[in-house]
Amino acid sequence: MKAEAARESIHALTLPRLRELLAEAGHPAYRGAQVLEWVYEKRVDDFEVMTNLPAGFRLWLNERFVFHVLEPVRVQGAEDTTRKYLFRLGDGALVESVLIPASPALYGEASDRRTLCVSTQVGCAYGCKFCASGLDGWSRNLTAGEIVGQILRIEKLSGERVSNLVFMGMGEPLSNFKNLLIALEILNAPWGVGIGARRITISTSGLAPQIRELAEQPMQVRLAVSLHGARDEVRQTIMPVNRKYPLAELLAACEYYVGIKKQRITFEYILIRDVNDSIEDAEALVLAAQRVDAKVNCIPYNVVEGLDWIRPEEERQDAFMAVLKRAKVNATIRREKGHDIAAACGQLRRQTLPEVAASS
Ligand code: SAH
Ligand code: SF4
Repeated sequence: MKAEAARESIHALTLPRLRELLAEAGHPAYRGAQVLEWVYEKRVDDFEVMTNLPAGFRLWLNERFVFHVLEPVRVQGAEDTTRKYLFRLGDGALVESVLIPASPALYGEASDRRTLCVSTQVGCAYGCKFCASGLDGWSRNLTAGEIVGQILRIEKLSGERVSNLVFMGMGEPLSNFKNLLIALEILNAPWGVGIGARRITISTSGLAPQIRELAEQPMQVRLAVSLHGARDEVRQTIMPVNRKYPLAELLAACEYYVGIKKQRITFEYILIRDVNDSIEDAEALVLAAQRVDAKVNCIPYNVVEGLDWIRPEEERQDAFMAVLKRAKVNATIRREKGHDIAAACGQLRRQTLPEVAASS
């Protein structure tokens, strides 16, 4: 058997890529679909149980590929509420994923919508001033297999199917572009996890060139932009990435995306007291939203240990929202319970890191 590091994760392979590898090794191409049916339909994590495949071929699979199963080190939250999973990866790195059940207030009692928020990197290099994920800097990109593995593992642990995916966990998805695209293909394809592209949302801090590149991909995934400031002088105090891609460039890339995909994008806007919550900020946000016909999702800031900011009082949040509503911007404010653990990805990892380090 090859050394562990040399074996490729089976969860990182698209069907076309697997067929290529099979052809190189002299195996018939139709075996590719058979293997992936076991992996994604039957959800097995062992080549030995793939009983319709010849024993010799199973041995070859086992020498060539590996099932990397993510190890949960901590789960926070109850059955019917938001649950946060902290996973340890093969090299000991920690990432988190958050499972959010349908909110009856938003989708009705009968909704079986279950949204999973996944991570794409260990840490984050972008250092936004409100975010726990960037506090310790960036360690590495997740592989496509580790991205797909979060969904598979949570479906197995929770016994529930995930209906919607949001790439809003730790890391900047568009700076792990190559692996993101492979993972998206596997998550979307009928031979893979089979989640509809319109039920998948990629959130970015605003990497303008990659937004354009994503626009040119055939998949109809949704785009959310972490705006958090609609004036450069405000946004760049919150998000250093704004110096590299200022609003003019970012909004032009958003227009490009909307023009090609013919779908609405979302602006995420965390309300932070005395930082970006003035009436003037709301007016600037109206202009930005109108320019690209974006939906606006306001989120009262969640306090992060080690960071100074706090959320505005409700009256101030209401005044901000009133400006958006008056201008007929499609805007909502997220105030659900459970959000205290759901938002601010990266926090569970930070709370847990010292414990896990001490116990391993
Ligand atoms: N890097 C990508 C994906 C991470 S999502 C991006 O920046 O878009 C980051 C999102 O998590 C933010 O847009 C925000 O909606 C949420 N978030 C992070 N820290 C938060 C905090 N302290 N309070 C509320 N929401 C937070
Ligand atoms: Fe990174 Fe996004 Fe957090 Fe900014 S908000 S530090 S880009 S994860």
